[in-house]
Amino acid sequence: MAQRSILFADNPILRKKSRRVPRLTQEIQALIQDMWEVMRAARGVGLAAVQIGVPLRVIVVEIPEDMDDPDAGTSLALVNPELVKVSREVEEGVEGCLSVPGWVGTVPRHVEVTVKAVDPRGKPVRLKARGYLARVLQHEIDHTEGVLFIDRTTEVWPVEEGEEEQEEVRAAGKKV
Ligand code: ZN
Repeated sequence: MAQRSILFADNPILRKKSRRVPRLTQEIQALIQDMWEVMRAARGVGLAAVQIGVPLRVIVVEIPEDMDDPDAGTSLALVNPELVKVSREVEEGVEGCLSVPGWVGTVPRHVEVTVKAVDPRGKPVRLKARGYLARVLQHEIDHTEGVLFIDRTTEVWPVEEGEEEQEEVRAAGKKV
């Protein structure tokens, strides 16, 4: 049962650089479980541990199965994720954030990224992602550096009340 709630943008913890996870303890496994619960309850597609007040380098990402995207159905829990390679090609897309409710903005992101991490069992992972999944990964890894999408946005605007959907990140023209 997740008893953790999502922190909002005015909370200084969100501006902290998260620490690396030294060991995959039971506490870390419990944290990951809580993160899945909080993210799904909020109908997000990603969440970083710092968003629930734990400044450790842990992220979860889940692209909904019913989304019209090549990576639909992808679920990832990554510990100590880092971008090891990024494409020169950048594209703009619309993002929102569970920590910045009510606002979305246009954010330029690398089209393709390679991420190095370990999975929850401690197995090294090296993953190449494109498009929307690459965008979500960059958004979540930014959180581990204390960076919010509003720091990178070229334009930001409020979403109409009632129209708002609590996704962590969404791409323009895609209903998540
Ligand atoms: Zn976010």
